[in-house]
Amino acid sequence: MLEKLGQAIKKGIDKIAGAIFVDKKLIEEVVKDLQRALIESDMNVSLVKEISDSLKEIAANEKIKGVEKREQIIKILHDKLLEMLGGEKRELELKKGKPQKIMLLGLYGSGKTTTTAKLANYYNKRGLTTAILGLDVHRPAAREQIEQLGKQHNLNIFIDKEEKNPSKTFKRFEGELKSYDLTIIDTAGRHSLDSELVKEIKTLVKEIKPDYTILVISADIGQAAKKQASEFQKATGIDGVIITRMDSTARGGGALTACHETKAPVFFMTTGEKINDIETFNPSSFISRILGLGDLEALMEKIKLTAEPEKLEKIKEGRFTMQEFKEQLKAMENVGPLGKIAEMIPGLGSLLGNKAKIPENMIEMQGEKAKKWKFAIDSMTPEEKENPEIIEKETSRLQRIAKGAGINTSDVRALLKQYKILKEFVKSGSQELSQKQLMKFARKFGKKVRM
Ligand code: GDP
Ligand code: MG
Repeated sequence: MLEKLGQAIKKGIDKIAGAIFVDKKLIEEVVKDLQRALIESDMNVSLVKEISDSLKEIAANEKIKGVEKREQIIKILHDKLLEMLGGEKRELELKKGKPQKIMLLGLYGSGKTTTTAKLANYYNKRGLTTAILGLDVHRPAAREQIEQLGKQHNLNIFIDKEEKNPSKTFKRFEGELKSYDLTIIDTAGRHSLDSELVKEIKTLVKEIKPDYTILVISADIGQAAKKQASEFQKATGIDGVIITRMDSTARGGGALTACHETKAPVFFMTTGEKINDIETFNPSSFISRILGLGDLEALMEKIKLTAEPEKLEKIKEGRFTMQEFKEQLKAMENVGPLGKIAEMIPGLGSLLGNKAKIPENMIEMQGEKAKKWKFAIDSMTPEEKENPEIIEKETSRLQRIAKGAGINTSDVRALLKQYKILKEFVKSGSQELSQKQLMKFARKFGKKVRM
Protein backbone atom coordinates (compact mmCIF):
# COMPACT_ATOMS: atom_id res chain seq x y z
CA MET A 1 0.00 0.00 0.00
CA LEU A 2 1.67 3.15 -1.18
CA GLU A 3 4.96 1.39 -0.65
CA LYS A 4 6.65 3.25 -3.41
CA LEU A 5 5.69 6.63 -2.08
CA GLY A 6 6.73 5.59 1.38
CA GLN A 7 10.07 4.37 0.15
CA ALA A 8 10.72 7.52 -1.81
CA ILE A 9 9.88 9.76 1.11
CA LYS A 10 11.89 7.69 3.52
CA LYS A 11 14.84 7.71 1.18
CA GLY A 12 14.58 11.46 0.91
CA ILE A 13 14.41 11.88 4.65
CA ASP A 14 17.33 9.55 5.16
CA LYS A 15 19.33 11.38 2.58
CA ILE A 16 18.72 14.66 4.30
CA ALA A 17 19.14 13.25 7.78
CA GLY A 18 22.45 11.70 6.95
CA ALA A 19 24.02 14.42 4.88
CA ILE A 20 26.71 16.69 6.20
CA PHE A 21 25.59 19.50 3.98
CA VAL A 22 21.95 20.12 3.38
CA ASP A 23 22.63 22.13 0.30
CA LYS A 24 20.70 23.14 -2.74
CA LYS A 25 21.92 20.22 -4.78
CA LEU A 26 20.82 17.67 -2.22
CA ILE A 27 17.41 19.25 -1.81
CA GLU A 28 16.85 19.44 -5.51
CA GLU A 29 17.69 15.81 -5.83
CA VAL A 30 15.38 14.82 -2.99
CA VAL A 31 12.61 17.04 -4.31
CA LYS A 32 12.88 15.45 -7.73
CA ASP A 33 12.62 11.94 -6.29
CA LEU A 34 9.69 12.98 -4.18
CA GLN A 35 7.87 14.62 -7.03
CA ARG A 36 8.16 11.48 -9.07
CA ALA A 37 6.80 9.35 -6.24
CA LEU A 38 3.99 11.75 -5.40
CA ILE A 39 2.89 11.94 -8.99
CA GLU A 40 3.05 8.18 -9.36
CA SER A 41 0.70 7.84 -6.43
CA ASP A 42 -1.55 10.24 -8.28
CA MET A 43 -1.31 13.19 -5.93
CA ASN A 44 -2.66 16.49 -7.12
CA VAL A 45 0.06 18.39 -8.97
CA SER A 46 -0.53 21.61 -7.09
CA LEU A 47 -0.02 19.78 -3.80
CA VAL A 48 3.18 18.31 -5.12
CA LYS A 49 4.37 21.76 -6.06
CA GLU A 50 3.46 23.12 -2.67
CA ILE A 51 5.60 20.52 -0.94
CA SER A 52 8.49 21.08 -3.32
CA ASP A 53 8.40 24.83 -2.83
CA SER A 54 8.39 24.59 0.94
CA LEU A 55 11.39 22.29 0.91
CA LYS A 56 13.31 24.50 -1.45
CA GLU A 57 12.53 27.53 0.62
CA ILE A 58 14.03 25.97 3.73
CA ALA A 59 17.01 24.76 1.79
CA ALA A 60 17.70 28.25 0.51
CA ASN A 61 17.32 29.87 3.90
CA GLU A 62 20.84 30.74 5.01
CA LYS A 63 19.69 31.50 8.51
CA ILE A 64 18.70 27.95 9.29
CA LYS A 65 21.75 25.86 10.01
CA GLY A 66 22.69 22.19 9.78
CA VAL A 67 20.63 20.06 12.06
CA GLU A 68 17.80 22.53 12.28
CA LYS A 69 17.51 22.55 8.55
CA ARG A 70 17.31 18.80 8.52
CA GLU A 71 14.68 18.77 11.20
CA GLN A 72 12.61 21.41 9.52
CA ILE A 73 12.65 19.62 6.23
CA ILE A 74 11.51 16.40 7.79
CA LYS A 75 8.89 18.21 9.77
CA ILE A 76 7.60 20.03 6.71
CA LEU A 77 7.28 16.79 4.81
CA HIS A 78 5.45 15.16 7.66
CA ASP A 79 3.15 18.10 8.29
CA LYS A 80 2.31 18.63 4.64
CA LEU A 81 1.43 15.02 4.15
CA LEU A 82 -0.67 15.09 7.26
CA GLU A 83 -2.46 18.18 6.05
CA MET A 84 -3.07 16.60 2.67
CA LEU A 85 -4.59 13.56 4.30
CA GLY A 86 -6.91 15.50 6.52
CA GLY A 87 -4.97 15.73 9.76
CA GLU A 88 -7.11 14.45 12.58
CA LYS A 89 -8.54 10.99 12.67
CA ARG A 90 -12.32 11.04 12.16
CA GLU A 91 -14.44 8.29 13.57
CA LEU A 92 -18.02 7.17 13.24
CA GLU A 93 -19.78 7.70 16.52
CA LEU A 94 -21.77 4.61 17.26
CA LYS A 95 -23.24 3.42 20.50
CA LYS A 96 -24.48 0.22 21.98
CA GLY A 97 -28.11 -0.12 22.89
CA LYS A 98 -29.58 2.11 20.23
CA PRO A 99 -30.49 1.25 16.62
CA GLN A 100 -28.21 3.02 14.16
CA LYS A 101 -27.83 2.76 10.43
CA ILE A 102 -24.96 3.16 7.99
CA MET A 103 -25.86 3.27 4.33
CA LEU A 104 -23.21 2.57 1.73
CA LEU A 105 -23.32 4.14 -1.69
CA GLY A 106 -21.10 3.81 -4.70
CA LEU A 107 -20.66 2.84 -8.30
CA TYR A 108 -20.46 -0.72 -9.62
CA GLY A 109 -17.57 -2.69 -8.33
CA SER A 110 -16.41 -0.05 -5.89
CA GLY A 111 -16.53 -2.60 -3.10
CA LYS A 112 -19.86 -1.85 -1.40
CA THR A 113 -21.04 -5.36 -0.77
CA THR A 114 -17.68 -6.63 0.44
CA THR A 115 -17.33 -3.58 2.67
CA THR A 116 -20.82 -4.08 4.07
CA ALA A 117 -19.77 -7.48 5.37
CA LYS A 118 -16.43 -6.17 6.61
CA LEU A 119 -18.08 -3.37 8.54
CA ALA A 120 -20.70 -5.64 10.09
CA ASN A 121 -17.97 -7.99 11.21
CA TYR A 122 -15.80 -5.11 12.43
CA TYR A 123 -18.48 -3.71 14.71
CA ASN A 124 -19.63 -7.14 15.76
CA LYS A 125 -16.20 -7.75 17.16
CA ARG A 126 -16.36 -4.47 18.98
CA GLY A 127 -19.45 -5.46 20.87
CA LEU A 128 -22.28 -4.07 18.75
CA THR A 129 -25.03 -6.34 17.52
CA THR A 130 -25.10 -5.89 13.76
CA ALA A 131 -27.31 -6.69 10.82
CA ILE A 132 -26.94 -6.32 7.08
CA LEU A 133 -29.76 -5.10 4.90
CA GLY A 134 -29.26 -5.95 1.23
CA LEU A 135 -30.94 -3.42 -1.02
CA ASP A 136 -29.11 -4.09 -4.25
CA VAL A 137 -32.21 -5.28 -6.04
CA HIS A 138 -30.96 -4.73 -9.57
CA ARG A 139 -28.09 -7.11 -10.01
CA PRO A 140 -29.28 -10.73 -9.99
CA ALA A 141 -26.24 -12.07 -8.18
CA ALA A 142 -26.04 -9.30 -5.61
CA ARG A 143 -28.30 -10.92 -3.08
CA GLU A 144 -26.61 -14.30 -3.39
CA GLN A 145 -23.27 -12.64 -2.82
CA ILE A 146 -24.42 -11.06 0.39
CA GLU A 147 -26.15 -14.20 1.55
CA GLN A 148 -22.95 -16.13 1.09
CA LEU A 149 -20.86 -13.56 2.94
CA GLY A 150 -23.34 -13.77 5.78
CA LYS A 151 -23.09 -17.54 6.01
CA GLN A 152 -19.32 -17.52 5.82
CA HIS A 153 -18.84 -15.02 8.56
CA ASN A 154 -21.86 -15.61 10.71
CA LEU A 155 -23.54 -12.29 10.02
CA ASN A 156 -27.23 -11.44 10.24
CA ILE A 157 -28.49 -10.87 6.74
CA PHE A 158 -31.81 -9.38 5.69
CA ILE A 159 -32.69 -9.75 2.03
CA ASP A 160 -35.77 -10.24 -0.05
CA LYS A 161 -34.87 -12.24 -3.09
CA GLU A 162 -38.05 -11.43 -5.01
CA GLU A 163 -38.64 -7.80 -4.25
CA LYS A 164 -37.71 -5.28 -6.95
CA ASN A 165 -38.36 -2.20 -4.88
CA PRO A 166 -35.70 -1.44 -2.23
CA SER A 167 -38.06 0.77 -0.25
CA LYS A 168 -40.42 -2.13 0.20
CA THR A 169 -37.62 -4.38 1.34
CA PHE A 170 -36.67 -1.82 3.94
CA LYS A 171 -40.24 -1.49 5.18
CA ARG A 172 -40.53 -5.23 5.45
CA PHE A 173 -37.54 -5.52 7.80
CA GLU A 174 -37.67 -2.14 9.49
CA GLY A 175 -39.18 -3.36 12.76
CA GLU A 176 -36.87 -6.35 13.08
CA LEU A 177 -33.79 -4.26 12.43
CA LYS A 178 -34.57 -2.07 15.42
CA SER A 179 -33.36 -4.81 17.72
CA TYR A 180 -29.80 -4.43 16.41
CA ASP A 181 -27.34 -1.75 17.48
CA LEU A 182 -26.21 -1.29 13.94
CA THR A 183 -27.56 -2.02 10.47
CA ILE A 184 -25.26 -1.76 7.50
CA ILE A 185 -27.16 -1.16 4.29
CA ASP A 186 -25.83 -2.31 0.95
CA THR A 187 -27.29 -0.47 -2.02
CA ALA A 188 -27.24 -0.85 -5.78
CA GLY A 189 -24.57 0.74 -7.90
CA ARG A 190 -24.52 1.97 -11.47
CA HIS A 191 -21.89 2.49 -14.10
CA SER A 192 -22.08 6.18 -13.36
CA LEU A 193 -24.01 8.53 -11.17
CA ASP A 194 -27.04 8.83 -13.43
CA SER A 195 -30.32 10.48 -12.61
CA GLU A 196 -31.97 7.15 -11.93
CA LEU A 197 -29.44 6.24 -9.28
CA VAL A 198 -29.64 9.68 -7.71
CA LYS A 199 -33.38 9.39 -7.49
CA GLU A 200 -33.23 5.94 -5.94
CA ILE A 201 -30.64 7.02 -3.38
CA LYS A 202 -32.50 10.16 -2.46
CA THR A 203 -35.68 8.23 -1.87
CA LEU A 204 -33.86 5.67 0.24
CA VAL A 205 -32.11 8.31 2.32
CA LYS A 206 -35.43 10.00 2.97
CA GLU A 207 -37.15 6.80 4.02
CA ILE A 208 -34.35 5.09 5.88
CA LYS A 209 -32.78 8.16 7.50
CA PRO A 210 -29.36 6.61 7.97
CA ASP A 211 -27.09 8.02 10.69
CA TYR A 212 -24.30 7.91 8.19
CA THR A 213 -24.36 7.88 4.42
CA ILE A 214 -20.99 6.76 3.19
CA LEU A 215 -19.58 6.68 -0.29
CA VAL A 216 -17.44 3.68 -1.17
CA ILE A 217 -14.65 4.51 -3.60
CA SER A 218 -12.03 2.25 -5.08
CA ALA A 219 -8.48 3.52 -4.62
CA ASP A 220 -7.75 2.63 -8.24
CA ILE A 221 -9.37 5.80 -9.48
CA GLY A 222 -6.80 7.96 -7.68
CA GLN A 223 -7.39 11.68 -7.95
CA ALA A 224 -10.65 11.12 -9.78
CA ALA A 225 -12.04 10.35 -6.34
CA LYS A 226 -12.38 14.08 -5.93
CA LYS A 227 -14.86 14.39 -8.76
CA GLN A 228 -16.78 11.35 -7.68
CA ALA A 229 -16.99 12.41 -4.05
CA SER A 230 -18.13 15.92 -4.86
CA GLU A 231 -20.72 14.65 -7.35
CA PHE A 232 -22.23 12.35 -4.77
CA GLN A 233 -21.99 15.08 -2.20
CA LYS A 234 -23.99 17.43 -4.37
CA ALA A 235 -26.51 14.89 -5.60
CA THR A 236 -27.34 12.97 -2.46
CA GLY A 237 -25.15 14.22 0.36
CA ILE A 238 -22.52 12.06 2.01
CA ASP A 239 -20.98 12.07 5.47
CA GLY A 240 -17.71 10.54 4.44
CA VAL A 241 -15.89 7.98 2.40
CA ILE A 242 -14.48 4.49 2.59
CA ILE A 243 -11.60 3.80 0.24
CA THR A 244 -11.32 0.20 -0.90
CA ARG A 245 -8.57 -1.76 -2.64
CA MET A 246 -5.72 0.18 -1.08
CA ASP A 247 -3.72 -3.01 -1.46
CA SER A 248 -4.06 -3.26 -5.19
CA THR A 249 -2.94 0.09 -6.53
CA ALA A 250 -0.24 2.71 -6.23
CA ARG A 251 -2.81 5.45 -6.67
CA GLY A 252 -4.27 5.29 -3.19
CA GLY A 253 -2.45 8.44 -2.17
CA GLY A 254 -4.38 10.36 -4.79
CA ALA A 255 -7.68 8.92 -3.67
CA LEU A 256 -7.02 9.73 -0.02
CA THR A 257 -5.87 13.29 -0.59
CA ALA A 258 -8.61 13.95 -3.13
CA CYS A 259 -11.28 13.06 -0.60
CA HIS A 260 -9.84 15.47 1.88
CA GLU A 261 -10.08 18.20 -0.74
CA THR A 262 -13.80 17.65 -0.98
CA LYS A 263 -14.05 17.78 2.82
CA ALA A 264 -15.36 14.25 2.89
CA PRO A 265 -13.54 12.49 5.71
CA VAL A 266 -12.14 9.05 5.05
CA PHE A 267 -13.45 6.82 7.81
CA PHE A 268 -12.07 3.47 6.74
CA MET A 269 -9.88 1.91 4.15
CA THR A 270 -9.88 -1.68 3.02
CA THR A 271 -6.75 -3.51 2.14
CA GLY A 272 -7.74 -6.89 0.76
CA GLU A 273 -10.57 -9.24 -0.06
CA LYS A 274 -10.74 -10.97 3.31
CA ILE A 275 -13.29 -10.07 5.95
CA ASN A 276 -10.72 -8.55 8.29
CA ASP A 277 -9.02 -6.42 5.66
CA ILE A 278 -10.51 -3.20 6.90
CA GLU A 279 -9.09 -0.55 9.17
CA THR A 280 -9.96 2.88 10.43
CA PHE A 281 -8.10 5.61 8.67
CA ASN A 282 -5.79 7.63 10.86
CA PRO A 283 -3.71 10.11 8.83
CA SER A 284 -0.93 10.36 11.36
CA SER A 285 -0.31 6.67 11.86
CA PHE A 286 -0.83 6.12 8.15
CA ILE A 287 2.05 8.45 7.40
CA SER A 288 4.30 6.83 9.97
CA ARG A 289 3.54 3.53 8.40
CA ILE A 290 4.14 4.44 4.79
CA LEU A 291 7.35 6.08 5.87
CA GLY A 292 8.29 2.87 7.60
CA LEU A 293 8.89 4.76 10.79
CA GLY A 294 7.41 3.72 14.08
CA ASP A 295 7.72 7.18 15.35
CA LEU A 296 8.99 10.15 13.47
CA GLU A 297 9.58 12.15 16.61
CA ALA A 298 11.97 9.52 17.86
CA LEU A 299 13.87 9.67 14.62
CA MET A 300 14.22 13.41 14.84
CA GLU A 301 15.45 13.08 18.39
CA LYS A 302 18.10 10.67 17.21
CA ILE A 303 19.25 12.96 14.49
CA LYS A 304 19.61 15.73 17.01
CA LEU A 305 21.69 13.59 19.31
CA THR A 306 23.93 12.31 16.63
CA ALA A 307 24.70 15.58 15.03
CA GLU A 308 25.45 18.61 17.13
CA PRO A 309 26.18 21.43 14.75
CA GLU A 310 29.16 22.97 16.56
CA LYS A 311 30.79 19.60 16.76
CA LEU A 312 30.43 19.18 13.05
CA GLU A 313 32.05 22.40 11.98
CA LYS A 314 35.41 20.77 11.45
CA ILE A 315 33.93 17.84 9.60
CA LYS A 316 32.29 20.28 7.26
CA GLU A 317 35.68 21.66 6.46
CA GLY A 318 36.74 18.18 5.56
CA ARG A 319 38.70 17.73 8.77
CA PHE A 320 38.18 14.72 10.90
CA THR A 321 40.50 14.31 13.85
CA MET A 322 40.34 11.97 16.81
CA GLN A 323 38.36 14.66 18.60
CA GLU A 324 35.54 14.42 16.08
CA PHE A 325 35.77 10.68 16.20
CA LYS A 326 35.27 10.80 19.95
CA GLU A 327 32.23 13.02 19.51
CA GLN A 328 30.82 10.44 17.16
CA LEU A 329 31.40 7.68 19.68
CA LYS A 330 29.70 9.70 22.36
CA ALA A 331 26.76 10.60 20.19
CA MET A 332 26.24 7.02 19.23
CA GLU A 333 26.25 5.88 22.81
CA ASN A 334 23.04 7.77 23.30
CA VAL A 335 21.11 6.32 20.46
CA GLY A 336 21.02 2.60 20.86
CA PRO A 337 21.18 -0.24 18.36
CA LEU A 338 23.62 0.53 15.70
CA GLY A 339 22.05 -0.94 12.62
CA LYS A 340 19.67 1.98 12.52
CA ILE A 341 22.12 4.58 13.65
CA ALA A 342 24.62 3.82 10.96
CA GLU A 343 22.16 5.42 8.60
CA MET A 344 22.30 8.60 10.56
CA ILE A 345 25.94 9.17 11.17
CA PRO A 346 26.72 12.52 9.63
CA GLY A 347 29.03 12.00 6.77
CA LEU A 348 27.63 8.64 5.91
CA GLY A 349 24.60 10.14 4.33
CA SER A 350 25.70 9.21 0.89
CA LEU A 351 25.63 5.59 1.90
CA LEU A 352 21.96 5.60 2.59
CA GLY A 353 19.99 3.19 0.59
CA ASN A 354 23.16 1.18 0.27
CA LYS A 355 23.17 -0.17 3.75
CA ALA A 356 24.32 -3.57 2.66
CA LYS A 357 27.43 -1.98 1.32
CA ILE A 358 28.53 -0.45 4.57
CA PRO A 359 31.58 -2.37 5.69
CA GLU A 360 30.37 -4.42 8.57
CA ASN A 361 33.00 -3.37 11.02
CA MET A 362 32.22 0.22 10.40
CA ILE A 363 29.36 0.01 12.77
CA GLU A 364 31.30 -1.73 15.45
CA MET A 365 31.75 1.43 17.38
CA GLN A 366 29.63 0.49 20.29
CA GLY A 367 29.70 -0.98 23.72
CA GLU A 368 32.94 -2.13 25.27
CA LYS A 369 34.95 -1.25 22.25
CA ALA A 370 33.71 2.30 22.19
CA LYS A 371 34.51 2.67 25.87
CA LYS A 372 38.09 1.50 25.32
CA TRP A 373 38.48 3.79 22.37
CA LYS A 374 37.34 6.78 24.31
CA PHE A 375 39.88 6.07 27.03
CA ALA A 376 42.52 5.72 24.34
CA ILE A 377 41.61 9.04 22.76
CA ASP A 378 41.76 10.69 26.18
CA SER A 379 45.27 9.36 26.58
CA MET A 380 46.46 11.00 23.37
CA THR A 381 48.38 14.24 23.24
CA PRO A 382 46.76 17.12 21.35
CA GLU A 383 49.27 16.50 18.58
CA GLU A 384 48.29 12.86 18.34
CA LYS A 385 44.63 13.74 18.23
CA GLU A 386 45.21 16.10 15.36
CA ASN A 387 47.46 13.73 13.45
CA PRO A 388 46.77 10.17 14.54
CA GLU A 389 49.09 8.95 11.79
CA ILE A 390 52.11 9.63 13.98
CA ILE A 391 50.93 7.06 16.50
CA GLU A 392 51.34 4.20 14.13
CA LYS A 393 54.81 5.25 13.23
CA GLU A 394 56.11 5.17 16.79
CA THR A 395 55.56 2.07 18.85
CA SER A 396 56.40 4.01 21.99
CA ARG A 397 53.34 6.24 21.45
CA LEU A 398 51.18 3.24 20.86
CA GLN A 399 52.37 1.64 24.08
CA ARG A 400 52.02 4.82 26.10
CA ILE A 401 48.42 5.31 24.95
CA ALA A 402 47.49 1.70 25.65
CA LYS A 403 49.00 1.89 29.10
CA GLY A 404 47.33 5.20 29.86
CA ALA A 405 43.95 3.82 28.84
CA GLY A 406 44.43 0.47 30.49
CA ILE A 407 43.96 -1.43 27.25
CA ASN A 408 46.04 -3.48 24.80
CA THR A 409 48.01 -2.02 21.93
CA SER A 410 45.83 -4.11 19.62
CA ASP A 411 42.84 -2.09 20.83
CA VAL A 412 44.62 1.11 19.93
CA ARG A 413 45.43 -0.30 16.51
CA ALA A 414 41.82 -1.25 15.98
CA LEU A 415 40.81 2.26 16.92
CA LEU A 416 43.23 3.72 14.42
CA LYS A 417 41.87 1.51 11.67
CA GLN A 418 38.29 2.40 12.45
CA TYR A 419 39.21 6.05 12.53
CA LYS A 420 40.77 5.81 9.10
CA ILE A 421 37.70 4.14 7.65
CA LEU A 422 35.45 6.81 8.97
CA LYS A 423 37.78 9.58 7.94
CA GLU A 424 37.84 8.39 4.38
CA PHE A 425 34.07 8.31 4.36
CA VAL A 426 33.76 11.73 5.83
CA LYS A 427 36.22 13.11 3.31
CA SER A 428 34.13 11.89 0.45
CA GLY A 429 30.89 12.48 2.32
CA SER A 430 30.11 15.83 0.79
CA GLN A 431 30.15 14.38 -2.65
CA GLU A 432 27.80 11.64 -3.63
CA LEU A 433 29.62 8.35 -3.53
CA SER A 434 28.93 6.44 -6.64
CA GLN A 435 27.88 2.84 -6.45
CA LYS A 436 31.21 1.91 -7.93
CA GLN A 437 33.18 3.82 -5.35
CA LEU A 438 31.16 2.19 -2.66
CA MET A 439 31.86 -1.28 -3.95
CA LYS A 440 35.51 -0.47 -4.10
CA PHE A 441 35.41 0.89 -0.63
CA ALA A 442 33.53 -2.07 0.74
CA ARG A 443 36.03 -4.46 -0.83
CA LYS A 444 38.94 -2.52 0.50
CA PHE A 445 37.85 -2.35 4.07
CA GLY A 446 35.05 -4.83 4.45
CA LYS A 447 37.22 -7.91 4.59
CA LYS A 448 40.61 -6.65 5.53
CA VAL A 449 39.79 -5.03 8.80
CA ARG A 450 38.76 -7.62 11.32
CA MET A 451 38.59 -6.50 14.86
P1 GDP B 1 -19.81 -3.58 -5.31
O1 GDP B 1 -20.19 -3.79 -6.73
O2 GDP B 1 -19.58 -2.13 -5.01
O3 GDP B 1 -20.74 -4.22 -4.34
O4 GDP B 1 -18.37 -4.27 -5.12
P2 GDP B 1 -18.00 -5.65 -4.44
O5 GDP B 1 -18.08 -5.54 -2.97
O6 GDP B 1 -18.79 -6.75 -5.07
O7 GDP B 1 -16.47 -5.75 -4.82
C1 GDP B 1 -16.01 -5.79 -6.16
C2 GDP B 1 -14.72 -6.57 -6.19
O8 GDP B 1 -13.69 -5.89 -5.48
C3 GDP B 1 -14.82 -7.92 -5.53
O9 GDP B 1 -14.14 -8.87 -6.33
C4 GDP B 1 -14.12 -7.74 -4.20
O10 GDP B 1 -13.58 -8.95 -3.74
C5 GDP B 1 -13.08 -6.75 -4.56
N1 GDP B 1 -12.64 -5.97 -3.40
C6 GDP B 1 -13.39 -5.24 -2.55
N2 GDP B 1 -12.63 -4.63 -1.61
C7 GDP B 1 -11.34 -4.99 -1.86
C8 GDP B 1 -10.07 -4.67 -1.26
O11 GDP B 1 -9.95 -3.93 -0.29
N3 GDP B 1 -8.97 -5.21 -1.84
C9 GDP B 1 -9.04 -6.04 -2.92
N4 GDP B 1 -7.89 -6.51 -3.42
N5 GDP B 1 -10.20 -6.33 -3.51
C10 GDP B 1 -11.35 -5.84 -3.00
MG1 MG C 1 -22.57 -5.05 -4.55
